[in-house]
This record gives sequence, C-alpha cells and structure tokens, in this order.
Amino acid sequence: MPSRVLFGAVRLVDPVAGHDAVTNVLVEDETISAIGRDATGGPRVDVLDCEGLILAPGLVDLHVHLREPGFEHKETVESGTRAAAAGGFTAVCAMPNTDPVTDNSAVVMEVRNLAEKAGLCDVFPAGAITRGLAGESLTDIAEMAEAGVRLLTDDGQCVQSSRMMRLALEYAKAFDVAISQHAQDAALSEGWQMHEGYYSAMLGLPGVPAEAESIVIARDLALARLTGGRLHVTHVSAAQSVDLIRQGKERGLRLTADVTPHHLSLLDEDLVTYDTSLKVNPPLRGVEDREALREGLVDGVLDAVATDHAPHAAEDKEQEFDQAPPGTIGLETALAVLLTELVAPGRLSLSQAIERLSVRPAQILGLDEHGGPLTPGRPANLVVFDPAVEWTVGEQPFFSMARNSAFAGRALKGRVLHTMLRGTFTVREGEPTR
Ligand SMILES: [Zn+2]
Repeated sequence: MPSRVLFGAVRLVDPVAGHDAVTNVLVEDETISAIGRDATGGPRVDVLDCEGLILAPGLVDLHVHLREPGFEHKETVESGTRAAAAGGFTAVCAMPNTDPVTDNSAVVMEVRNLAEKAGLCDVFPAGAITRGLAGESLTDIAEMAEAGVRLLTDDGQCVQSSRMMRLALEYAKAFDVAISQHAQDAALSEGWQMHEGYYSAMLGLPGVPAEAESIVIARDLALARLTGGRLHVTHVSAAQSVDLIRQGKERGLRLTADVTPHHLSLLDEDLVTYDTSLKVNPPLRGVEDREALREGLVDGVLDAVATDHAPHAAEDKEQEFDQAPPGTIGLETALAVLLTELVAPGRLSLSQAIERLSVRPAQILGLDEHGGPLTPGRPANLVVFDPAVEWTVGEQPFFSMARNSAFAGRALKGRVLHTMLRGTFTVREGEPTR
C-alpha cells in the first residue's frame, strides 16, 4: 500500500503554477498525485483538515551556517536541519566556513552524507572560492561542481583581491555556478562593532560605514560585466547597495541578491540594549537602509530572503559586546518575520513572500525538485502553515542547538505546522518527526 496523505480544504499558494485558492492536495508516497476539490484519495488515506491553513512549496535558504564539521558545540548538520524543517525549509545551502573548510569535494560529500542520514532537509553545500578562505588561490571549481556544488562563496570573509574575484567569476561560468560575495572592504571595516552613524557615536562603539559594502559591490559588478560570470550578492544591508544592484540588473548583468529577515526588520538603534544577539555581520543599519531593503525586496531587485542562520554556543554570545562573535539564528523565525513585517502590513502578497522564500532561491541554486510548482507528478516538498497564530519567539525552546536569536521576545504572527520532504513528514503538528 502506498502512503496517502490528503491536505483537505487548504489554501494552496503556488507562485510558479499561478495557483492561489482553497483546494485539496493528495500526496502519494513521494509525489503529489492529485489537486482539486474532488481529490479525496479513497480509503486508507491520512486526512488532515487544513481549513484556514496555507500550503506552499517548501522554503529554500541560500545562506545557513550548519557549523559541522568542526564547530559541533554550536550546531550540527542534524540540529541545524531540524531547525530548518521546523521553519518550513526543505532545502538549505550550507556555508563553507567549517573546519576543515568546505573547499574540496570530500568535505562537500561529508556534509551531504550527514544531511542524508538526518533526513530532515536537503542540504546543498556551498564550496569556498579560495583555499582555506585565505583569499590567495582558487579552489578546484570543476571538482566541486562535479560533486554538485551550485554556489561558491568565502562567506564570513570577503574576496578582497579583484584578480581572485575575476578568476572565480570566469571559471565558475563554465559550470553555471554562482559566485556569492560577502561584500565587505577589509580596510574600511577593520575593528567594527556596528553600523557607523549616530548610534555608533552615541554608544561609543566603532562603526563600519555602508560604503564598506557598496564599494565591493561596485567593483564586483564591474567584474561581472568584464567576465560575464554569475554574481550573487548575499545579505545586502545598505540602501546604496540596493541602488547599485538595481543599476546592475538594468544593465543586464547576470546578477542576483538576497537579504536577511533581520536586516528587513531591525535597526542599528536596537543595539542601545547592547544585546549581543543583535550583533550581526553585516551590521543592522539605519531606517533609510531598512526601507530601501524592503522596497528592493518588493520590486524584486533583491531576489530572495536568506536567513544567514548563524548559531553560536551560549558562552560565545554571553561575553562583552566587543568580544561576542556576530550572528543570529534565523531558520525558525524567517517565515513568521516576513509574514509579520511585510505581508501583514500589505507590502508583499503571500504569493510574493513564497516566491522570495522558495521559488527564487531554488532557481538561483538550480534546484529542480524544490521551489515548486506543486502539481501532480511533482515531488511533495512542501510546507503548511497557519498565518493567524501569534507566538513569542523564545517561549518555546528552539530546535537549533543555539539560542542567539535577534528576535527573542518578539511577538510574531504565522507558524509552521507541517513540513514534508519528498512525501515524508519532517515536521507534523509543529513537531519534528525525527
Ligand atoms: Zn556573510
């Protein structure tokens, strides 16, 4: 007997198929077998009444730190993918700043095998651009592309050398792999603790100007133009960066970008509490920056929302502000932050939100099985969430090993109930199944 699950009377929001209506969705084994009011599945079907709930393609995250191998006291592939599933994700791209660095196919395979064993979420490891993230010599891009790598990045570090960046864009082009840049000029950002502005002066913390980001983006756009390579700008934080990306797209460059939920919702002024969970890299910026990011996301200049899920052990973050490492966890709050901050006020439609959280990131990674469409015959990678439930972040324990959430204590609206990976529940009634 095949396993049969019927999501009854659910609002199916599928931006790819152009579907937004209440219907029934039948899943048999690994695939969606029928959609429609008359889809019932017959006897021996597991029926879930989904009135008032939304069913959408599983979310896809372009930027997460799973910390394994090397930093298993912060997070493991298993705990990180459990957090991902709890947040509605069915695929994530893991950053290569592990120990050893993911700069060769052996580490790529190791991370992928750990994810397969956990069985909670597909993990697509990103490879490093330079060996050991040292910025000096290129990794073997061909070897990693062969091993399935879809994105290269030195994230955590910015590729400072224009020559190295040029070579990376040139070589990666042959494999249709995107080069994702953590844009941050090293000299201009030395010693920073937060965004440079009124609040850094007031709080007495060394600042980094938005120009540290935009200068690198301007250079990278020139190199993308020179090489014809695929450039992705990750965690865009400043208004002037959004302007540059808009111009680059208007000029027809092969250019994509993502923005984090925390940069879309929080500000440098929130640091008046010296809460180390709000110390992130790049830093939270001013109100004009946040507005430009929101505008950029709405009009599609910023293609995707990516969490930059950056778990740390409690003792790492429970230090003086200037000693604490930057980063916030984000997998379990991303959907709710977007629903609360942008969908509820009417700036982004539900369909647009799903596009930014699932469809576009899947396209950027070239993933056929994720990001929809949800139509008969397609893999059942999906999320079901309740858009009306209100909850307070941190009241229930996180499934991540870490607790450093920039959203702790915030009231959010919208909660994931079920996540399904190829027809198997990874989360059911809000609880991970493994
Ligand atoms: Zn980064």
